[in-house]
Amino acid sequence: MQNNLIAGSWVQGPDAVDNINPSDLDDVIDSYARADAGQVNDAVAAAKAAFPAWSTGSIQARAGMLAAVAAEIMARKEELGELLAREEGKTKPEGIGEVMRAGQIFDFFAGEVVRQSGEKIASVRPGIDVEITREPLGVVGLITPWNFPIAIPAWKIAPALAYGNCVVIKPAEIAPGSAHALAEIIQRAGVPEGVFNLVMGKGSVVGEALVNHPDVAAISFTGSVETGKRIAANCAARLAKVQLEMGGKNPLVVLDDADLGTAVDCALNGAFFSTGQRCTASSRLVVQKGIHNAFVDALVEKMQALKVDNALLEGTQMGPVVDQSQLDQDLKYLDIGRDEGAKLAWGGERLNRATQGFYLQPALFTETDNAMRINQEEIFGPIASVIAVDDYDQALHVANDTAFGLSSGICTASLKHASHFKRHAQAGMVMVNLPTAGVDYHVPFGGRKGSSYGSREQGRYAAEFYTTVKTGYTLPL
Ligand code: ADP
Repeated sequence: MQNNLIAGSWVQGPDAVDNINPSDLDDVIDSYARADAGQVNDAVAAAKAAFPAWSTGSIQARAGMLAAVAAEIMARKEELGELLAREEGKTKPEGIGEVMRAGQIFDFFAGEVVRQSGEKIASVRPGIDVEITREPLGVVGLITPWNFPIAIPAWKIAPALAYGNCVVIKPAEIAPGSAHALAEIIQRAGVPEGVFNLVMGKGSVVGEALVNHPDVAAISFTGSVETGKRIAANCAARLAKVQLEMGGKNPLVVLDDADLGTAVDCALNGAFFSTGQRCTASSRLVVQKGIHNAFVDALVEKMQALKVDNALLEGTQMGPVVDQSQLDQDLKYLDIGRDEGAKLAWGGERLNRATQGFYLQPALFTETDNAMRINQEEIFGPIASVIAVDDYDQALHVANDTAFGLSSGICTASLKHASHFKRHAQAGMVMVNLPTAGVDYHVPFGGRKGSSYGSREQGRYAAEFYTTVKTGYTLPL
């Protein structure tokens, strides 16, 4: 049994839920506590009580704690990567990569603790000094999804703590193991009681209680559009600061002059790695007619060779879908695509493997139109569509013709088209000759339109969310 961390103690919840391996449904990782609203109140009260000392204490000590968290995460990357792959279903190398990234994020923000600075500005009134400084917000509530069960908690927790806030985090109910392991590491690093709290459980109970708590100054959320909108409305009602990272329907444009091998590799990686369960996944492949057939043939050949199996087996390139409800959603969209008249070029079959799990062949639709539901709604599985276009102008139009705007990619040898695309893609991130997924940890992450709301995450831009600005005026007497 794994418990919640509240006010420095590990406490049982009123009930608990099994964390099940999607590669092997007989494998129960452990039972994880589910908190209720009362435990959320306890966690927020502990965070509130810890805030004055934490926010004004030694930044040297704070930096040291974050560095210690980074060091332990990285030293245990194999074991934590295996736990992550076991609970989420991405392959073990992908799991280890994600764990390393979580460590690097803590390392980066350990440095940022002692690099915080302000501005001193000349006043328009002679003799007065003006200073602009940043201060922490207080208690921040963090709500995270299952698809990056350690990296997303890390990229919210690390800046929150670095800038002097206290944290209550609620990880996804179906994959709480990695966040729980991270909580143990944070506690071991000597973070004082109440500064960091973990409350696991349901979004409708624990998440709602956190979002609506009057002592929670800000909510950072990553998850679905539907939940994000609800959280934004609830935060607005009580004027709490909010940051949302939601879905994507990311285009990868492939022009006739693209290097075919690069384009196919970008599509394979972007659409199907991590089982397509990334908000930056390339779900729309916008391909110019001259290269279309060669691109589709080469991509299908690579998809057929992709080894789909138990995430923990050596050589597996794509693990299972995360759970039954996500699998049902993927299968539903395969039906929707067929009904809309798209051609299933390959894939989409349920697969049986030595262990019972949610295995699905990667699927590629061709002969699709951008207006189809499969091209407008986020599927969040290993399913991509090809949309044929005549020229660059049409490709750009199709790429931007979506309610989302997270990541947008182009494969081309043309500097002119690449430059134009970087300027005109309506997305928070633009990739040239690279997959739409896969980003650095020290630069801003986020999107436009229905993908994101509020300020950017990661890198120094994270300060925008986790601090508030103060303007000080002094008349030296
Ligand atoms: P996903 O489809 O990725 O599970 P969700 O938006 O349902 O997306 O979940 C993302 C996170 O938001 C999870 O931790 C989930 O428990 C939480 N959540 C779900 N519903 C709510 C809610 N009403 N209020 C706050 N958090 C919620």
